[in-house]
Amino acid sequence: MQKGNISVQTENIFPIIKQFLYSDQEIFLRELVSNATDATQKLKTLASKGEYKGKLDDLRIEIILNEEEKTLTIRDKGIGMTEEEVMKYLNQVAFSSAQEFLDKYKEDASIIGHFGLGFYSAFMVAERVDVLTKSHKKAKAVKWSCTGSPEYTLEDIDKKERGTDIVLHISEDSTEYLAKARIQELLDKYCKFLPIEIQFGTTTVTEYEGEGEDRKEIKTEKDNIINNPNPIWKKKPASLKEEDYKSFYKELYPYSTEPLFWIHLNIDFPFNLTGILYFPKLNNSLEVQKNKIQLYSNQVYITDNVQDIVPEFLMLLHGVIDSPDIPLNVSRSYLQADANVKKISGYISKKVAEKLKSLFKKDREAYQEKWGDIGVFVKYGMISDEKFHDRAKDFVLLKNTTGEFHTIEEYQEKIKTEQTDKHDKLIHIYSNQISDQLSYIESAKAKGYDVLVLDHVIDNHFAQHLEQKLNNTTFVRVDSETADKLVQKDETTESVLTDKEQEKVKSIFASSLGESQSVELRNLATSDLPVMITKPEFMRRMKEMQAMQGMNMEAFGDMHNIVVNTNHPLIAGKMLKMRSEEKKNKFAEYLYMLAKVNQKMLSGEDMSKFMNMSVEFLQEN
Ligand code: ADP
Ligand code: MG
Repeated sequence: MQKGNISVQTENIFPIIKQFLYSDQEIFLRELVSNATDATQKLKTLASKGEYKGKLDDLRIEIILNEEEKTLTIRDKGIGMTEEEVMKYLNQVAFSSAQEFLDKYKEDASIIGHFGLGFYSAFMVAERVDVLTKSHKKAKAVKWSCTGSPEYTLEDIDKKERGTDIVLHISEDSTEYLAKARIQELLDKYCKFLPIEIQFGTTTVTEYEGEGEDRKEIKTEKDNIINNPNPIWKKKPASLKEEDYKSFYKELYPYSTEPLFWIHLNIDFPFNLTGILYFPKLNNSLEVQKNKIQLYSNQVYITDNVQDIVPEFLMLLHGVIDSPDIPLNVSRSYLQADANVKKISGYISKKVAEKLKSLFKKDREAYQEKWGDIGVFVKYGMISDEKFHDRAKDFVLLKNTTGEFHTIEEYQEKIKTEQTDKHDKLIHIYSNQISDQLSYIESAKAKGYDVLVLDHVIDNHFAQHLEQKLNNTTFVRVDSETADKLVQKDETTESVLTDKEQEKVKSIFASSLGESQSVELRNLATSDLPVMITKPEFMRRMKEMQAMQGMNMEAFGDMHNIVVNTNHPLIAGKMLKMRSEEKKNKFAEYLYMLAKVNQKMLSGEDMSKFMNMSVEFLQEN
């Protein structure tokens, strides 16, 4: 037996590994199974090149849990290691053979590890690690053993089968990894789509009353293969049917409703990336489910936190991304700085835009039907990603209250004649709450205007975004003005009231509602309400902005303007003709309350006062 010291710079590297290298202890299993996978893939590569002439037979990787012995073994039938290789690869921490191998077999090998530290993650959970290995080359088998200090032992053993057993003697503080369910959970998480078949089994030793060897019965229970080595994202899109994509989606998210559509990503230059991204059904809701995209590196699960790899707005998508160019064991800050990662994000954004465009072009009706779900992605994308805006501006849709869909260009063409104001601005009138704004919508329509539906939380931002991007465009909410003033043209209309009468109307409202309220007289249609409340666009936006920043909005109150429709018979015909000032004041107050009802601004005591006054007025006639 040989003894020696692992060559590391520091006295003892293991505490460092434990603390800094991996934030997640559980990934030791991912690393070791990845190594087993690499070793098996390497053997396959050598065999395909005729450099290994032996039989491959069954190449499956076995994970064996032995609760009695407190060991967890990862067994592969891959290339194995000679004594020299063990010395070279395991004794020199951070010296990985992956690079060496890749350089030699660049084109056809896909190797998971790049880092040269994965193996040592075993010491996060094991107090001793034994490596029993027999190379595919003619060489004696060896056992390397190390207790987590830089000292190790190396001895010849009598191992017949090609490949490597990594035996972890699980330490006292990591006994959770001796539970079958826990290992199963980790395998499901990290190894579900590994390219080599993986079998998970448990070994139990039962002792009997008896002599010698007969006293023990060792039972190994072998479970079924636990992974799917050929996930569909690795296959050619042409070989797949709609059903395949749908059932894969079910496999990933058993409780989700069917996806709307999907994109099969497949690129090998300037970086490698495969994957499938699904557009889930959102139902116009905001319960955004992030962390639904799973990131893989050569079919090894890395994370579902894809924040820096996928553009923010596409985090709403579901599915998998697999790229060997995304580093395995590294920190977030490293990921952010990684040039490949940046390119990947741009590529995905482009692919998504292309897919949406082709759907729009191919079958606009179907596209419109899905708009309720995809609209959020598209708008979010346009706001947050300049390039995406440019790609999407031709297929983003605006829906109006009649249920029609227009592209921006189509819409502006449609409203051009009626809704251009005196400054040549195109006024986009919208409703964010159709049921609350019906009377305003009706008035706008009566004026020949079109009203858009912008009722999603994102629409506020989207409207502002379009105002910035399109220089002749303004959005105003349908209740921000009376219909005649929504689109400000240079027309002035004559009042039916004399100057004196106008003064009178003003003074009635002033004494009834108080001087501080701003009351404006306008000649609206007789079909409009006698008194209307408008919420100026500017004020409303200020308020929304500040509410969003968590500011206290008390100071703003319920800011609104009061518009008296001097054309309405209840004003000129009825109110002005009332005998007593008291009656006039009361009537003015009532009309104001009626306007408040229309804006859902009346509640509590005010509401009951309004009801009483209504009953009173009805009784009078
Ligand atoms: P990496 O996988 O990034 O190369 P690791 O620390 O995980 O780094 O492994 C170090 C090296 O040890 C590997 O490159 C490989 O040469 C060798 N090795 C580890 N596990 C096995 C195994 N199961 N079979 C053969 N060689 C292995
Ligand atoms: Mg590795």
